[in-house]
Amino acid sequence: MGAKIIDGKQVAASIRQRLKEEVAELAKKGVTPGLATVLVGEDPASQVYVRMKEKACGEIGIISKGIRPPADIPQEELIAQLEELNRDPAIHGILVQLPLPKHLNTAEVLKHVSPEKDVDGFHPLNLGKLLSAKYWDELPKFVPCTPAGVIKLIDSTGVEIEGKQAVVVGRSIIVGKPVAMLLLARQATVTMCHSRTKDLGAVTREADILVVAAGVPRLIKGEMIKPGAVVIDVGVNRLEEGLVGDVDFDQAKEVAGYLTPVPGGVGPMTITMLLANTVRAAREAAGL
Ligand code: NAD
Repeated sequence: MGAKIIDGKQVAASIRQRLKEEVAELAKKGVTPGLATVLVGEDPASQVYVRMKEKACGEIGIISKGIRPPADIPQEELIAQLEELNRDPAIHGILVQLPLPKHLNTAEVLKHVSPEKDVDGFHPLNLGKLLSAKYWDELPKFVPCTPAGVIKLIDSTGVEIEGKQAVVVGRSIIVGKPVAMLLLARQATVTMCHSRTKDLGAVTREADILVVAAGVPRLIKGEMIKPGAVVIDVGVNRLEEGLVGDVDFDQAKEVAGYLTPVPGGVGPMTITMLLANTVRAAREAAGL
């Protein structure tokens, strides 16, 4: 039997519809959520991502304010701009598009986004809270968007996370590590794999829930998947033939129980979680 394909666009659309209604309610109380999108330099891929985020904001009534410092901006100047946004009451969320140009220290820059406006969840305070949360209700206000979207997609299948064997392939601070922390907070037994893992397939075959974020096209073959597993493919790899994930989709769909496509799986959820975080930031800033 073929896997059920998880429609990330549809899950995202229903969350965005709810957010749009919430923004309309906030407007009646005189609150308009505002997101600052900080894009340093002119990296074409980053420009596309930021445009998509701004468009998504507009569609649900969030105002976005584009900040576009030149690629060679000195770090202190960028930090000064962030501090200014931290003080601006019309701005509820601040997004610093990564990667930053090489002369900038990303960790240092991100420290200067107020934790209250950290809608990407990358401030060390929010990451630390994520690490220390034992239970779901102890999580920080903002958790990184792609990992939050991964959990929503798993939940959309109706498969219970608690007590399951979950395997995460990839240990980046943007995806792999936070996904693992969220799965732990949901009471899964979590194993993390990475580029030095020996016999990856032996580990992934044990997974009831498999999340793959390695950035290696079609790394996960059908025989590396437990029959019936929930497989979430975070990978986005641009090949000549088009976008492909980290999971071999054609093979996986013969084995998995649930599977996300690329594109149309995790991607739409990342932006949706950013919108959700921004709306939450605005609501809480207004004391509502
Ligand atoms: P990264 O390069 O920072 O990390 C990749 C991780 O995969 C590393 O921890 C590495 O150890 C591990 N890895 C690499 N090769 C491996 C192998 N052969 N076996 C096992 N593990 C291996 O990447 P990232 O930022 O975490 O992104 C991962 C993928 O997810 C990329 O394709 C990226 O484009 C995609 N991504 C998608 C979204 C989205 O919204 N859809 C968001 C973020 C990242």
